[in-house]
This record gives sequence, C-alpha cells and structure tokens, in this order.
Amino acid sequence: MRAFELSTLALTVLAGGMPWLFACASAPHPAATASGAATARGGVAPGGAAVAPGQAGAGAGDASAAPAEADPHSFSRPSEVAVEHLILDLSVDFPARRLSGRASLRLHSKSSGADTLYLDTRDLDIQRVTLEDGKTEAPFTLGDPVPHLGRSLAIRIPPGTTWVHVDYATAPDAAALQWLTPAQAGSALPLLFTQSEAILARTWVPCQDTPAVRQTYEATVRVPPGFLALMSAENPTAKTADGIYHFRMPQPVPSYLLALAVGDLAWKQLSNRSGVYALPETLERAAWELADTPRMMAAAEKLYGPYRWGRYDLLVLPPSYPYGGMENPRLTFATPTILAGDRSLVSLVAHELAHSWSGNLVTNANWNDFWLNEGFTVYIERRIMEALYGKDYADMLAVLGRQDLEDTLREKGTDSPDTRLHLDLAGRDPDDGVSDIAYEKGALLLTTVEAAVGRERFDRFLRGYFDTFAFQSMDSRRFVAYLKAHLLDTHPGLAESLRLDDWIYAPGLPQTAITVRSAAFARIDQAIAAFAAGTPPAQLDTKGWTTHHWLRFLRNLPQPLAPARMADLDSSFHFTDTGNDEILDAWLLLALRNTYEPAGAALERFLIAVGRRKYLQPLYTELAKTPAGAETALRIYAQARPGYHPITRAAIDKILDWRE
Ligand SMILES: [Zn+2]
Repeated sequence: MRAFELSTLALTVLAGGMPWLFACASAPHPAATASGAATARGGVAPGGAAVAPGQAGAGAGDASAAPAEADPHSFSRPSEVAVEHLILDLSVDFPARRLSGRASLRLHSKSSGADTLYLDTRDLDIQRVTLEDGKTEAPFTLGDPVPHLGRSLAIRIPPGTTWVHVDYATAPDAAALQWLTPAQAGSALPLLFTQSEAILARTWVPCQDTPAVRQTYEATVRVPPGFLALMSAENPTAKTADGIYHFRMPQPVPSYLLALAVGDLAWKQLSNRSGVYALPETLERAAWELADTPRMMAAAEKLYGPYRWGRYDLLVLPPSYPYGGMENPRLTFATPTILAGDRSLVSLVAHELAHSWSGNLVTNANWNDFWLNEGFTVYIERRIMEALYGKDYADMLAVLGRQDLEDTLREKGTDSPDTRLHLDLAGRDPDDGVSDIAYEKGALLLTTVEAAVGRERFDRFLRGYFDTFAFQSMDSRRFVAYLKAHLLDTHPGLAESLRLDDWIYAPGLPQTAITVRSAAFARIDQAIAAFAAGTPPAQLDTKGWTTHHWLRFLRNLPQPLAPARMADLDSSFHFTDTGNDEILDAWLLLALRNTYEPAGAALERFLIAVGRRKYLQPLYTELAKTPAGAETALRIYAQARPGYHPITRAAIDKILDWRE
C-alpha cells in the first residue's frame, strides 16, 4: 500500500472493554490489551461467545516455522482450525449498497479436538451457518462488538469438519466498501471498490482476518448487466452479457488481499502479461502513463526472482480512492493522481509491483511488523526505479523519503514508541500505526545493511529470502535471525556495529543510518538559496525540472514567505493551476502556511475532488490550526465528506473533531 502520513493523528486507545465470555472456548486466552473492565453491552446473541483477540498467528500459515507472535487484531484461532480455501458467491446491490450471498470455507484442522471455528466479522448480518453439504445447520454466536475489531463469529463444528458455509449480507456503511454514485465516480454508472487492508476484509467477508492465514479462493459475483467485475484474481478483460463473473485465485493470499471492484470499466493491454483497467474516458491516458510497467516487471524479476502471480494488471480508480495504491494481487488498485501526463509519478507502480515480493509473497505475520511489508517495498521500489531511470532518479526519491522520515520523527518525537519498526498496536486500529516509520525507516535499514555488505551480496540475500519464505508469513524476530544467519554472521560484529536491535526495537533513528545524497538536488538547493537571497523566481534556472525537483524546491523554501513573494512564485511557475496533484499538494500546504489567499479556490476544489488521504490529512491539519481555518475546513468537509472513502473520513473526522 502507498499510504503513510497519519503521524499527527491522535492515537485511538480503546475505551471501555468487553466481557470475555468463553461459552465455546476451550483454550486459555492471553490477556489482550483490548480487554478491560467488563461492561455489558446490548446486541449480544443469547449465550453469546466473545473471544479475546490474540489467538491468530500461532503457527498459522506456515506449519514448518516457529510460532509467530499472536495477532492482536484477530479473533481467529488458526492454530486450531485454519481456513485454506474460500468460495464466495455474492450479489452486488448498488441501490441498497449491499453485498449478499454465501462464503464457503474449507477448513484444515490443526488440532484433533477443535470443535469451534472462530471467524472475524464487523457489521455483517450473519443469517445462517451450515456445514459440509449445506443442509446441516451449525449453531453460532456473535461476540460483543469491540472497537475496530468487530465481533467474533464462533461456529460450533464437529471435529474434523471440512466445509462451513456462512450466508450473510454486508452493511450499507461497511468500512471496506466504497459505493460511488455516478457523479462521484465521474461515470455513467455507479462504482464499487473495496479496501481490505489492514483489518477491513471482515466488513465484507466472514474470514480469519489475520495476515498469518493464507487461502486460495474462487468467487462468483453477480452484478447488473453493463458492469465489469474485477477481483484480486484471474480477471476478465470484457463485460459479460448476463453480469455474472467467475473468479479463481490459485495462489494463497491473506484476507487483506481480497479485493473487488465493479463499475463501467474497460481494459487495455500493455504487454502479454500486463494491462490497465479504468473508466473508458480515462483508459488511454492511464495506459500511456503506465506504459513502463512491463519494463518494471522485468527489472524486478531480474533482482528478486520470477513474478509468481500470473498477470500484473492495474486498475485506475476515481479520485476518491483513499490511498496512492493497493497491492491487490494480480490487480493493483491505483489513484488517478499519478496520471501527471509526464510519467513522473510512476514510482507508485514500482511500489505496488514490488509488493508482489515483499508483502504479498512474504507477508508480515501481524500488523506490528508492517515494516516488513512496507520498508522492504520502498527499498525495492527504488531499486526498480534505479534500474529503469538511473541512480540519480532513485537518489532523489531516497532524499525526499528521508525528509519525510525526519518530519515524522520530529512530529512523533524520537522517543515515541511509534517510531520503532516493531510496533505495539494491540488495542488500537492498525491504521493508526501507519506512518513513514514503517516505510522510510524500514527502507533506510535495508539501504544501510546494503551499504555495509555490498550490493551484490545483499541482492543475493534478498533473492534467497523471497525464495525461502515464499507464501509464508514473517515477523521481526524471525527476520533478524535469518538476516544474521544468512548475511551478517559472516561479518563478525556487524549486527552489533549496525545496532540492528536498536533499529527494530528502539525508538528514533540509530546513528548508523547512512545518508543518501542527490546530485540533482544540489542544483535545486542553489536555486532555493538564490531565491532566499532575493533573486526573483523568474530568473531561477528551472530548465528540465521534473516533479521531484519541484517537490524539493517547494518543501525547502525559506519560511515564512511574504504574500508578494508567494504571488511572485505563483505567477512565475503557475503552481495554483498545475495539473500535477503531487506538486499542487505541496504548493497548497505552503499556501496555507503563508496565508496565500489566491490559492483558496484551488484548495477547495482539490479537497472536494480528491480523496487521497496522504494529501488531505496534512491540508486539513494545517487548516485546523486557526479558528478561521477550522471554520473553512468544516464548511468544505461537510461538502466533501460524502465523496471520501470511510478510511479517509475516519482520519479527517479525528482532525476536525467531526460529529454527524
Ligand atoms: Zn506499500
């Protein structure tokens, strides 16, 4: 996922708790941080069983490996019974904003006496549960709702049960589902897409919603005629007449990689194993912008081994898409804000493609080790960009990333536990742990190790890492052990001199972090110095600057800037009218900080049109700093909010203290 930038959000600590009633439980439960004073709540099924999260992960997903740390964000207990295959049969009802149908789960019993299957659900209407042939009903209980986590679904099963079928429907406000009206989608038809990471799959599929469990899947999806349905699976490239689509996903994936999109979508080929889906009017533009995707695949394979997922397609979604991209296997979901018209923002494609190795192939066992997904992916993203566009280009990305990291460390404080790579997110929404730490501190650790052992050896190590742990889950402890055994131990004392444990388990940034320099940015810094000394912007030498040069420039201008100087910048470089969302975002932030009012209309348009959280969160945060700004923010937000994804809404609600 390309998300980050949530650093200024208040952390959500679970208020209250839940009664832990173990009607069906047989095993002792570790004390979950989510627990607390028992408080009776309404809506409990008679005799309702609630289980503490923290069971998932133990030995799950990878039977041969040492038990992983328990997953504090799942009620499931895959060490007892694990889901190994999923069959979905779902109907998509746009007017009711509902998915309904059946999830059939094939089980793999890990302990012979297991008599209960625990699934994760949130806001699901569970109608009926049957076993095996679908005729025998199974008793089930829903646990009390726990903030963020939803409700456990405990299904009584005779030991050795192979199939469980859950008939259910989703809620109209299911957090993983965004239902766009035609106006919001910019389409003649409405559009639906999912976002399951981190723990939102449970809002549209009853499942073992932990990255420690992998399942293959099949699906039948019924949509109205005229729509194309797509999943993180083998996909159609054209609409069917009857609106019925069949999907097959032969590689096992964790639940957070379940994905569905439905809309008036069209497809265009990029190569024999890569293509682009988008709304018809966006398709040509998207295909042009993303034309280097096949070359990126070739570069990544040369470094890290074969691409193991069959096809690699991209789906360019409408602007309300909350993230930069999401690495749904076989079908990356992407924001249209990368369509800059000059291919300057395609590092996002390199990022999502890199997840085909780091994340999708070797997967963080739970969200405390999110850095194993994202830090590796940022590192690989830059290696792919270097292979295609040269070292200067990759160095620019690394230097911009380092600045993001320093900003985040400053905001959080270098002694904040949230600046560790290995996080403690128990009792919190894992989305709250998403920051540049996982991405940039993680990538910087790998860059630092690479510098210490040499690129050739490090590349060989990473290739072996992906081959060894393909389709398995990974946590920090096991990674460190593998890194030491297969790379660092041949250099006596290296793990200690790198201060490896400090990198992962201590806050802040170790002194051993290397500094990447960008020759290209030296020129930008000269321009900034000249501007600071009074040179009019029009006289600066900006020939050949691309998006990243401009970002370096905008982010490092002297502060504050008088209105006349802001106006001078704007009239020289037309920032307020730029069609490049990345540059516009940096400019609007600068405009807010310097109260440059002529950008106000562009800010309002941007906040209403774009739903990418990375842009919106800092802009609303900046607005909220003054009473007048907060008033403006609330006025704009009231209009923009219905078009934002629930994930974006949750972030902005907190910033503005929004109450419906
Ligand atoms: Zn990512």
